[in-house]
Amino acid sequence: MKYSLDDTIVAIATPPGRGALGIVRLSGRNAFEIASGVLLRPSKDVHYNFRELPSHTVHYGFLSEPQDGSVIDEVMFSVFRAPKSYTKEDMVEVTCHGGFCVLNWALNVFLQKGARMARAGEFTLRAFLNGRLDLAQAEGVLDVIEAQTPEGVKIALGQLEGRLSHRLQTLANALKKGLVQLEASIDFPEEEINVLENKKEIVTCSLREIESLLAGFKGGRIHREGVKTIIVGLPNVGKSSLFNALLEEDRTIVADTPGTTRDIVESGAIWNGVFFKLMDTAGLRESCHPVEGEGVKRTRKYMGEADLIIMVLDVSRPLKEQELAIARGIKEKGILVVNKVDLLPAWGADELRILGDMPLVQVSAKRGDGLDELKKGLAELALKEEISSGSGEVLLSNIRHVQALSRAKDALLSFMTALEEGLTAEFLADDMRNALEALGEITGETTPEDVLESIFSRFCIGK
Ligand code: GDP
Repeated sequence: MKYSLDDTIVAIATPPGRGALGIVRLSGRNAFEIASGVLLRPSKDVHYNFRELPSHTVHYGFLSEPQDGSVIDEVMFSVFRAPKSYTKEDMVEVTCHGGFCVLNWALNVFLQKGARMARAGEFTLRAFLNGRLDLAQAEGVLDVIEAQTPEGVKIALGQLEGRLSHRLQTLANALKKGLVQLEASIDFPEEEINVLENKKEIVTCSLREIESLLAGFKGGRIHREGVKTIIVGLPNVGKSSLFNALLEEDRTIVADTPGTTRDIVESGAIWNGVFFKLMDTAGLRESCHPVEGEGVKRTRKYMGEADLIIMVLDVSRPLKEQELAIARGIKEKGILVVNKVDLLPAWGADELRILGDMPLVQVSAKRGDGLDELKKGLAELALKEEISSGSGEVLLSNIRHVQALSRAKDALLSFMTALEEGLTAEFLADDMRNALEALGEITGETTPEDVLESIFSRFCIGK
């Protein structure tokens, strides 16, 4: 790994900009020596001696220039002795005043005294490499930071506390025990029959557990990434106007979906406590004009992937059979929006009777009528759709975990087939090893280095 554990690392742990307070974090074997060189007692003429400071204590003093002892800032600092710290190393967290200049000056004096600038996520990486957290827990740290709703925080915190890791560990332990016996039976083939019977039970139970974990993915994903909600409808019904009106005050993220530039515009918002990712397909209109079939095909694809569909109808123009046909196809995850209620209606609500009890909201994207009602309706529909409560249960929210669990599942299914076909214990042991390796990728036991790097690079500096 290109990260060394020998250096003492330092970073500003609070976001850039003006704030009441800002924290500079230091971790590593020389953390105390480095901090001692720049932290003065309240009298300003004596340096703190860290040997005298107990772990988990907070102290008042001054941060100073190492060369001439001139004061940089009045600070508080916390002391954490290895192994009882976030990284399992000696750590000092200095709370300064939260100004850009003062924090960078503070960072600079620690660098002068021999600390190295921490890379993104390097404190958490150390916690992982030093065995305080496994990889799934480390990813939980990131998820807590990135969570958009209280329910999302709850799920991420469960992962950080090791709820997912515990279930994976139990699963892996059973398989490991089975593998040891299988390997033994390769050496003592006369005992093979009994061993195989018992393995079938272990694998069946493991498959059930994997299925149950995978079943929690939709709820977990929705909390983490938002309820994928797509706006569809014929040209000029007001899709873009509705998209903009809905997001006017609540927009949290603006992003083009990678690889599908111009196809779709998406943006996130929280309505009634539910995190939504709203997608407007208006962009499809231009791109599909010459070959209508292609545009429709793409809209269908997005509709298939969406959790909820907002079908917009224009009340000022006659309803088209094509619109009713689309609406019929999306019944269970759709909500009808009758737009332009500020204009004279060309049709009445009874024309939608054939759609049964599909939720319907009347709005004017232009004037803003009905938007709150629509947001409320969407939240209700999302909650009905899925989003089980995160309390107590493990909800997978990470696609990496889903992929690894699916690989473990495939390996165990291949084990069952091999067993039925009467293949030898060597083949069975191979399948079991593959399943274990896939599970180990989630907790970090067998995760390739490039995957580790890409995970930790998503963290902020100082975490
Ligand atoms: P899209 O093609 O479905 O995305 O439709 P647009 O959002 O581009 O809207 C098409 C036209 O309808 C534009 O001229 C809008 O100003 C107009 N429009 C959209 N919503 C309303 C509304 O609630 N009332 C009125 N009167 N006009 C609207």
